[in-house]
Amino acid sequence: MSRVIIIGAGGVGNVVAKKCAQNDQVFSEVLIATRTVSKADRIVTQIHQHLPGSKTTFTTTSVDADHVPALVELFNSFKPELVINVALPYQDLTIMDACLECGVHYLDTANYEPLDVAKFEYSWQWAYRERFEKAGLMALLGCGFDPGATGVFTAHHAKHHFAEIHSLDIIDCNNGDHGKAFATNFNPEINIREITAKGRYYENGEWIETEPLAISQDIYYPKVATRKSFVLYHEELESLVLNFPTIKRARFWMTFGESYIKHLNVLEGVGMTSIVPIDFRGLKVAPIEFLKAVLPVPESLAENYTGQTCIGVQAKGIGHDGNEKVHFVYNVCDHAETYREVQAQGVSYTTGVPAMIGAALMLTGVWKKAGVYNVEEFDPDPFIAAMNTWGLKVEELAGIELVKD
Ligand code: NDP
Repeated sequence: MSRVIIIGAGGVGNVVAKKCAQNDQVFSEVLIATRTVSKADRIVTQIHQHLPGSKTTFTTTSVDADHVPALVELFNSFKPELVINVALPYQDLTIMDACLECGVHYLDTANYEPLDVAKFEYSWQWAYRERFEKAGLMALLGCGFDPGATGVFTAHHAKHHFAEIHSLDIIDCNNGDHGKAFATNFNPEINIREITAKGRYYENGEWIETEPLAISQDIYYPKVATRKSFVLYHEELESLVLNFPTIKRARFWMTFGESYIKHLNVLEGVGMTSIVPIDFRGLKVAPIEFLKAVLPVPESLAENYTGQTCIGVQAKGIGHDGNEKVHFVYNVCDHAETYREVQAQGVSYTTGVPAMIGAALMLTGVWKKAGVYNVEEFDPDPFIAAMNTWGLKVEELAGIELVKD
């Protein structure tokens, strides 16, 4: 039985909270702390409506997670064992600082990104390793789907299918339709910053940089569709090539529809995706923040969303029998089903469920080591078993090359 604080009450926070309520054997008391407390209150109201039998008790409060003293005060009064950070990547370091100060374990789903530089990498958070180790605390980084389940799938390939992984392709398809002209499936600012950045992949020990969305191919996503997919840089590549040093090439592919790319090109062309603040009637405003304010909030897409997501990891290399092989591990998630279950679209669901699972494995001592870790550093078996239990069925496909060299 454990006390946990969830920071953030957006699309992902909503799913994490409801999954904790379902898993009430592990999560006994949960505090949802976020900037706009009415969003947390709404989640709790829905939990009482949809999960009346849950034994987990919920409370809510407002907090500005950019400020360590505010977090320290909150942690000292609630005394959680673990904080699940599903606010934005900008808050990762302040929350980790407060965890160290108060003796609290930490989990997040996205690596730190400074507000004023569109750049994300693990170095800032890996720099906390020694302090977490010395404090006897654990920080689990990137425990959503990608990063998150994709690291677990890679560890599964390494444990069960390959003596050596040589190439890794993470593929992410959202074949859903929310009926809006243009919207992002998670926080618009973070999403647009990721997509408009240069592409990057790993080959023979080097990072190869490309223009944004410059490399593409049609990929078949089992049970879902064949979709044009683009190489992007994604944070888990950084830790996976370090943790699995036999990997010679690692790429991340994501689908985007023509209309999405057209809108994005226009917005970029007119400067609306810039993170550099401009003067507007005496106010300093970053155009991308203004854009965020006019786009639909990701949670609002959930109700009428149809279609599925398919996210998985293809590995190629040498099997345990010494022969070359290709293997794919994946999940298909249906937007309408996740809406029925937790009033969320599939992208929030595929992120929030792994976050709850990671937290449960830490709290029950199944994954427990002092220090700062990425998910692929732990045994993948209990995580995959929990994915099958908690709504993300894990499937496998042997011998078919979905992503071409
Ligand atoms: P949302 O924008 O929907 O929600 C973010 C929440 O954090 C909001 O409730 C927001 O409050 C709150 N918040 C923002 N800043 C602060 C602050 N300074 N103090 C306290 N609360 C704050 O985002 P999502 O739910 O879509 O995404 C949450 C996280 O999940 C992001 O880090 C995202 O990158 C990550 N993610 C990870 C994925 C993965 O697979 N690993 C996939 C998708 C997302 P308010 O409403 O007041 O603004």
